[in-house]
Amino acid sequence: MDKLYLVIPCYNEEEVIGETAARLRSKMNALIARRLIAEDSRVVFVNDGSRDRTWTLIEELHRADPLFAGINLARNRGHQNALLAGLLTVKEHADVVISLDADLQDDIGAIDEFVDKYRQGFDIVYGVRKAREKDTFFKRATAQGFYRLMSMMGAELVYNHADYRLMSRRALDGLAEFGEANLFLRGIVPLIGYPSAIVEYERSERFAGESKYPLKKMLAFALQGITSFSIKPIRMISALGFFIFAVSLIMLGYFLSVHFTGHTVPGWTTIAISVWAIGGLQLLGIGVIGEYIGKTYLETKRRPKFIVERTLGVADGGLVSVG
Ligand code: UDP
Ligand code: MG
Repeated sequence: MDKLYLVIPCYNEEEVIGETAARLRSKMNALIARRLIAEDSRVVFVNDGSRDRTWTLIEELHRADPLFAGINLARNRGHQNALLAGLLTVKEHADVVISLDADLQDDIGAIDEFVDKYRQGFDIVYGVRKAREKDTFFKRATAQGFYRLMSMMGAELVYNHADYRLMSRRALDGLAEFGEANLFLRGIVPLIGYPSAIVEYERSERFAGESKYPLKKMLAFALQGITSFSIKPIRMISALGFFIFAVSLIMLGYFLSVHFTGHTVPGWTTIAISVWAIGGLQLLGIGVIGEYIGKTYLETKRRPKFIVERTLGVADGGLVSVG
């Protein structure tokens, strides 16, 4: 039977962690009783440098019940990093992992369906929220704008999926190959490319405490998503520069014709031409430089160019991997 590990990043969650643990304990009991997962499955809380009693509570949970495990980060590194830390740490021990938030917004009831899909052979299962009625109009609108922008920028995102997701061991191995420093997990996971499925769930209100994602963090997160996935903004500068320069060549004809028919103040032609031509050239230049910086940027990420799905008839050490 497969070992299921739940990974839960926690930042200042003392108000909710007890309740979350209790509900997960009974969910895991049910799964174990139905012989769907192994008895030594775990619930792993990742403490992301909390300033409250979160870690103490995790320690207590662990002492009382071996189901609960903990990973303590040296300082607050943000949700995405905490989650990755959890995933990569448990990778060697788990057969399958589900990541979820500590605040019970992700419906624990959906775990059955996740496991079901996994047993059907899916490596990645995305939790997708059914409706956004409970969100404010502002949050809904910004979220929608964000998804649209991301797809314009060329990143494939699963619509309305956050970080409630199941990943098999080999999907985690795939994830580990992505060596990038700027993490945007929900953009990277689809790039792994193993068979995936979707499970819909109702996202509820936070059980207690307040959101650790204020507007400022949300904006930073969105910007991170865009810039870590795309150099399109730089391309736009190049295109604009090219356009303005092309227009300036047309204007040149116009400026000169006006100049020679004598309907101008002295010096106007030179200034007008310079402003247009130089402006366009400068933008174009910035764009070209940007293109190289962009390339360097993408290279320094050292993303894997491929992930081997399976090999046939290759003995250990018989295959030299091409990096
Ligand atoms: N979180 C974290 N580190 C942070 C901020 C948040 O580990 O710096 C965790 C938090 O404890 C929760 C999850 O990330 O389990 C999602 O955060 P939150 O519920 O505050 O975000 P929201 O649901 O409001 O978007
Ligand atoms: Mg939340």
